[in-house]
Amino acid sequence: MIKIGMIGGSGFDDPDFLTDVRTVKKGTPFGGLSADLIVGKTHDVEIAIVLRHGRQHRIRPSAVNYRANIWALKDEGVTHIIATTACGSLREEIRPGHLVFPDQFIDFTRVRKSTFHEGDQVVHISMADPFCDRLRQILIQTAEEEQVTHHPTGTVITIEGPRFSTRAESRMFRILGGDIVNMSTVPEVVLAREAGICYALAAMSTDYDAWHESEAPVTWEMIATTMRKNVENVKKIFFKALPKITYDMCSCRTEVESAMV
Ligand SMILES: [Zn+2]
Repeated sequence: MIKIGMIGGSGFDDPDFLTDVRTVKKGTPFGGLSADLIVGKTHDVEIAIVLRHGRQHRIRPSAVNYRANIWALKDEGVTHIIATTACGSLREEIRPGHLVFPDQFIDFTRVRKSTFHEGDQVVHISMADPFCDRLRQILIQTAEEEQVTHHPTGTVITIEGPRFSTRAESRMFRILGGDIVNMSTVPEVVLAREAGICYALAAMSTDYDAWHESEAPVTWEMIATTMRKNVENVKKIFFKALPKITYDMCSCRTEVESAMV
């Protein structure tokens, strides 16, 4: 039995695409999650939605309780997570409005709790391939079928925020091999892996960050405008991809067991 978790923001707070909708309150050992889970069904698949930044988008990226969000989805029985995020582009060819399905991350966060295991249980989980390849391939195939402009691989750099990058930082991220930059993927994907949940990301490029000499540096308004224009593409891929997801035993499910010390 599969259950799909969806973590996102704009465009997913209105559950009109779901039937049997209800909200579910969850307590977790790590405190409260960003908002009550929105649970429902579509295509006969059970869905649980977390609004990462809360109902009114008031929770800044460093303050998101990533552990509570992932714990709540695990507790709800979620087997696969499709996350969405806005991101800045570090590459000319990743234009605003394009989607990227990252296969790697580089962690530039500083103050986030990035493991469930803080007590006596030490866990060194493999992060060589952090995103679920099976789930990624389903998203890529769906984007191809729906003719949505996308990039099938990419390295996402997650910064602490809430400020945007300097030009020098933005240029450095390019040298390091980053393709896009955002503020939310780490530790979300790390915790999903610890929880044994398949996790894939649809990142929407909204701007050229700060490196691009001929483009104006990113502003929040720029991000919001591009998100509004392109959120339907993300939704389309999400819903068309759902019926293709199956419960095949994936290494994401078992990785954590071999990581216990
Ligand atoms: Zn997987």
